[in-house]
Amino acid sequence: MAYAITQTCCSDASCVSVCPVNCIHPTPDEPEFGTTDMLYIDPRACIDCGACADACPVDAVFPVDRLRGPDTAFGDLNRDWFRDHPNDHAWGTPSFPRSLPGELGTLRIAVVGTGPSAGYTAQELLRSTSAEITMIDRLPVTGGLLRHGVAPDHQATKRIAESFASVFRDPRLRMHLNVEIGTDVTHRELTAHHHAVVYAVGAAADRRLGIPGEDLPGSLPATAFVGWYNADPTVPADAVELSAERVVVIGNGNVAVDIARILLTDPDRLAATDIADHALAALRRGRVREVVLLARRGPEQAAWTGAEFLALRQLPGVEVVVEDHPEVRAAIEAACESPSGPGASSGSRAPSGPGAASGSRAALLAGLPLVPYDGGAEPAAGRRIVLRFLSAPVGISGDGRVEAVTVERTTLVDGERAEATGERDVLRAGLVVRSIGHRGVPLPGLPFDERAGTVAHRGGRVVDPATGQPLPGAYVVGWAKRGPSGGIGANRACARETVDALMDDAQARALPEPEAGHREFERLVRSRRPDAVGLKELRAVERAERRRGEAEGRPRVKLATVPELLAAGRRR
Ligand code: NAP
Repeated sequence: MAYAITQTCCSDASCVSVCPVNCIHPTPDEPEFGTTDMLYIDPRACIDCGACADACPVDAVFPVDRLRGPDTAFGDLNRDWFRDHPNDHAWGTPSFPRSLPGELGTLRIAVVGTGPSAGYTAQELLRSTSAEITMIDRLPVTGGLLRHGVAPDHQATKRIAESFASVFRDPRLRMHLNVEIGTDVTHRELTAHHHAVVYAVGAAADRRLGIPGEDLPGSLPATAFVGWYNADPTVPADAVELSAERVVVIGNGNVAVDIARILLTDPDRLAATDIADHALAALRRGRVREVVLLARRGPEQAAWTGAEFLALRQLPGVEVVVEDHPEVRAAIEAACESPSGPGASSGSRAPSGPGAASGSRAALLAGLPLVPYDGGAEPAAGRRIVLRFLSAPVGISGDGRVEAVTVERTTLVDGERAEATGERDVLRAGLVVRSIGHRGVPLPGLPFDERAGTVAHRGGRVVDPATGQPLPGAYVVGWAKRGPSGGIGANRACARETVDALMDDAQARALPEPEAGHREFERLVRSRRPDAVGLKELRAVERAERRRGEAEGRPRVKLATVPELLAAGRRR
């Protein structure tokens, strides 16, 4: 029986490199790799060896006959992808691990950040060079978005942290947590103690809507909401109030999908995860019954990935409906025109048609109820998610706190641009979550590309935008380099590109010689941050959280404030 890749696929292609029969696609050298939601196994070519399942860092690969519940759809999805991409999937050009010549000596490299892009960078550096690595993070725990971004009901995805944990334990790696670059230690000081610095700092801010009422209490950016349920110590425990029955989430990317799912999942199911205790208690007390996902464009332009949306459709006890609108209905019908003829349309339900592997977002809405929607009325009975397309928010209002969102109907122009029609209506809601994407934050001492919201760079080398010249020894990786898109696995190829650039510069002897060594750097850090956290303290935090989790049958119970994290670290 063939294997199939399922919902948690992180697309880092670890499986591709171990497959002996080249049956996993798209591979990183194929054009579809840049846009695919996930990777797929060709059931006709799979020889059932299981090497991919062993290599998968997020437990996403299973024999087709062992798929259960919502995962059963993935057998067909894997098979259908190859039906829809019938090229010959030849073996790609082989690539061989490179290494640096020994005469270059031991490089000292700082990696700023400890999230997925930092993890892949450290892994790549340790594998390909004899470098000593200093990792630095402003928080007293590692993980970045892996700890504070990935939703708590996606524990399989979080498993990738285990492979990074073994990287972090490497004897060639030192850890300085609770230390902020730009505040406690400058970029200049970092470069004075290292041959190279790689910034893996992500995109910490949110995009702004620029509409009236955006900052009213009860209107939150997604980063705050996600940080709140993930025990991010920079987000207060009382940041979210859930007394309203309707929540409007603006945007329909995967983060919006995560938020809708967490708001409506039965808290008893979340209780088995590592969700923040304060969030679990608030969700139990909360009254939220309806979440409206507001998208300014149509179903075909939805930003969620197919696998995440399929999981949302199958959330137990939650109905997913689509606001009925002629343009939305037409988009779904067009997507469901299968090669064998049009899908069956049944009045109040979207037609059925080809599945997610066709790449069509609108086709994923097949079979969902199409309902008239009045956001001024009480939410309907039961728990439900309303997908409202072609609807752009133009104002958030309320007396001292969010009470309503004004929405303008849009129409799609040129097949992808939303144009306002002037037709407006009001949705009554007590909470608005603005999930319209992240944005990078400028770092003192590093050039920033305002338009892209990233560190200014070329192929991972930080450059001065005025001259186009690289800043010697400065590199960037992850969302700080590419902008805020792509899942965890996309960082693997990104890290390889940055590390390749760094190795090229090392070989060309273009890296500046540091003025001082790691002992001096350690002293500098201790003088600025006596409460800096190292690997031993980190392990003590890890043990404390897991011990608390064991007592409650959970993977861990996260410590949610900096003082608690520091105290647990001191008890090592
Ligand atoms: P995203 O995928 O870029 O989605 C942003 C959404 O906001 C889009 O629907 C966009 O609509 C909308 N938007 C932007 N500006 C807007 C405005 N002014 N008014 C109204 N709507 C606006 O961002 P994200 O959800 O934050 O996700 C970031 C990345 O992380 C993505 O690559 C995502 O796949 C990844 N991620 C993955 C997972 C997972 O795999 N489970 C989970 C979370 C995040 P338009 O398309 O019309 O611009």
